[in-house]
Amino acid sequence: MTSTVDSHKETLGFETEVKQLLHLMVHALYSNKEIFLRELISNASDACDKLRFEALSNDNLYEGDTDLRIKVDFDADAGIVTIKDNGIGMSRDEVVENIGTIAKSGTKSFIEALSGDQKADSQLIGQFGVGFYSAFIVAKKVVLNTRKAGASADHGVRWESEGEGTYTLETTDKADRGTEIILFLNDEAKEFADAFRLRNVITRYSDHISIPIYMDKQGEDESGEEAINQASALWKRAKKDISEDEYNEFYKHVAHDFEDPMAYIHNHVEGNQSYSSLLYVPKRAPFDLYDRERRHGIKLYVRRVFIMEDSEKLMPEYLRFVRGVIDSDDLPLNVSREILQHNRQIDTIRGASVKKVLGMLEGIAKDDAEKYAEFWKEFGKVIKEGPAEDFANKERILKLVRFASTHNDNDTQNVSLDEYISRMKEGQTKIYYVTAETYAAAKNSPHLEVFAKKGIEVLLLCDRVDEWMMSHVTDYDGKNFQSVAKGDLDLGELEDEAEKEEHKKAAEEAKDFVDKLKEALGEKVKEVRITHRLTNSPSCLVVEDDDMAVNLQRMLKAAGQAMPETKPILEINPVHPLSKKVEQEAGSERFNAWAGILFDQAMLAEGGQLQDPAGFVKTLNELMFE
Ligand code: ADP
Ligand code: MG
Repeated sequence: MTSTVDSHKETLGFETEVKQLLHLMVHALYSNKEIFLRELISNASDACDKLRFEALSNDNLYEGDTDLRIKVDFDADAGIVTIKDNGIGMSRDEVVENIGTIAKSGTKSFIEALSGDQKADSQLIGQFGVGFYSAFIVAKKVVLNTRKAGASADHGVRWESEGEGTYTLETTDKADRGTEIILFLNDEAKEFADAFRLRNVITRYSDHISIPIYMDKQGEDESGEEAINQASALWKRAKKDISEDEYNEFYKHVAHDFEDPMAYIHNHVEGNQSYSSLLYVPKRAPFDLYDRERRHGIKLYVRRVFIMEDSEKLMPEYLRFVRGVIDSDDLPLNVSREILQHNRQIDTIRGASVKKVLGMLEGIAKDDAEKYAEFWKEFGKVIKEGPAEDFANKERILKLVRFASTHNDNDTQNVSLDEYISRMKEGQTKIYYVTAETYAAAKNSPHLEVFAKKGIEVLLLCDRVDEWMMSHVTDYDGKNFQSVAKGDLDLGELEDEAEKEEHKKAAEEAKDFVDKLKEALGEKVKEVRITHRLTNSPSCLVVEDDDMAVNLQRMLKAAGQAMPETKPILEINPVHPLSKKVEQEAGSERFNAWAGILFDQAMLAEGGQLQDPAGFVKTLNELMFE
């Protein structure tokens, strides 16, 4: 950052990332130039919304002018387009902070997200919060004059840049509050200094902006100005009067998306609480879905006055991809974040909105499997946070979850619990699942062997969030979930008496062998026992029903959490050749080494890590070439 000249005028440098961004605007995004207007009008409208909100607690900010508006002007001869608002304006510091030196969090992500496809890339601008700079797609020079509402006239600020490395900043006189942006069009963008072209772009992209956008009347004997957008709050209108196109365009505006939404739901609620809600599910996950500082969510209005954009209060985390507007007739206009935190009305609206969204998703799942599959691919992992977060709707959320399963031969998550239940074997009372770090580890888990043999379906869970989800659910539709890697395997009626008798006999016969293994493994295991889980593998690890799954322990440890040590239980398949071999070695000096191999193999098959991998290899080699 450089700073020179006198106290009023200074030249400042952009940070590297902003410079890169500007370079891109100028040189790489010229195929869809017109979006600059959408972005600048969107900023002007935001600025008016902000003023209206601030003025709720300080009327003076209006300075006697409550008629919020945006004006678009042009000068064809000079090649100039001007966008002017009487919104909140900016102080000198705010100019530096908002559009000056330092790159905002979205800048880097934006640059990274660029695909090289100009059309697609230019659409991304709004989403990443770098809209202002799109001015440089069409302008060789941008001047921004602004004055903060409530500040005296000599506190105006003039910002000017040619989009290269620097900008100048100067304190000026500005009588009217708000912001004016003057674009000196470059040679390739002169077409925009034209009434028809500007109107056309504005009605296309900004018709639904709820602040009126004015232009001078055209034509020989016409004078004065006229509003060229509808400037009505779309969400307040009757559903029958809104076209699909209007819904879609409005979505693009609130969500800063460039694609149509996947689905939406619009409601006017009257009664105890009156409010309107217009909620959308996007087609694609936004780049900051997992970013704690994500920028967009649900916009809250009170009687058409924009209050704030804050998803947390209006939607739970697991529905954080939902976009749209909620407009309450009953909340006080002076609501603050603190009030919202503990507001019964907000809780009611939120509760009802969640149900609406769940209902909308259920509708898609029921009527359009393909669409739901798309939805699940984009947002499934987020929905899986739901059962832990939203106790009241747990069953409904679980109904929406889709799983990979042994019923399929690939990792597509498309099996619902209802579908699983419909395929349950006679006598089966539980929903069986296995968790692992990868699909391959889940699918090839030794724990599945007996289930494969008996043709019992098992759900395969390998998303990071799965362990978390499963630790918060016990049952669905009256059936308990059962991890196939937990507890003593009890297949209940799925096994006949003869089989049960056989297991008992095997356990008795192997008692001596099991005791010796336990002695050899010592502290490593909680218990050693015979199992009938396995058909092809010699051994596996399980934990007690109430212990944390081995996989979850590993994940939490990796995340740096201190974990109480839960020892696994080693289960042995007594008829496997390796078990037989080890059994024969009982009493020999190599027995401890063999016991270790049984344990380590079981750990590896779980996708786990060995405490001493080199030792394992060495021992194995010694045993092989003894
Ligand atoms: P975003 O609108 O997503 O925040 P932009 O790059 O479009 O990103 O704008 C950056 C910031 O500059 C805005 O958040 C706002 O603080 C400020 N700003 C831009 N235009 C105006 C305006 N017309 N009036 C007041 N502030 C503005
Ligand atoms: Mg913007």
